[in-house]
Amino acid sequence: MPQNKLTDRFGRTVNYVRLSVTDRCDFRCVYCMAEDMTFLPRQQVLTLEEIARVARNFVDLGTEKIRLTGGEPLVRKDILELVKEIGTYGLRDFAMTTNGSQLTTMAEPLRKAGMHRRTSAWIPWTPTNSATSPAPANCHMCWTVLMLPGKLASGASRSIQW
Ligand code: SF4
Repeated sequence: MPQNKLTDRFGRTVNYVRLSVTDRCDFRCVYCMAEDMTFLPRQQVLTLEEIARVARNFVDLGTEKIRLTGGEPLVRKDILELVKEIGTYGLRDFAMTTNGSQLTTMAEPLRKAGMHRRTSAWIPWTPTNSATSPAPANCHMCWTVLMLPGKLASGASRSIQW
């Protein structure tokens, strides 16, 4: 147990942090991103080594749960290297929020790298919600997520253990 625990101003221990690894994504849900998004300049984004150092420092201060988010974390180049590194920190919970577009190839490597679970949101496309949901072209990806181990209810955000 760390000597110096990170607490907020109400004395609560900060044992859970979410780390955004990118502001980019392979989807363009209209409630989230414009077609002509302006993304952060690369020099303003932490390197994977810097993100790992931030995570390590949080763990040293008592953090037991870390979630990687984006944007879409799986579009970040070499993200598996970061997952492998943080996977060695002995976390009670290590998770990722993902749109699921790359899980057919990335689910198993993520599990092997030490990630405990993932959360994916699936919003079914229909003509009535086409203004706010991912384009139909992306729907096959949602169905791919549905077919992966674990169950994902339609229109829901579900956390799935590998
Ligand atoms: S998948 Fe998520 S991060 Fe990507 S555009 Fe949609 S809401 Fe935003």
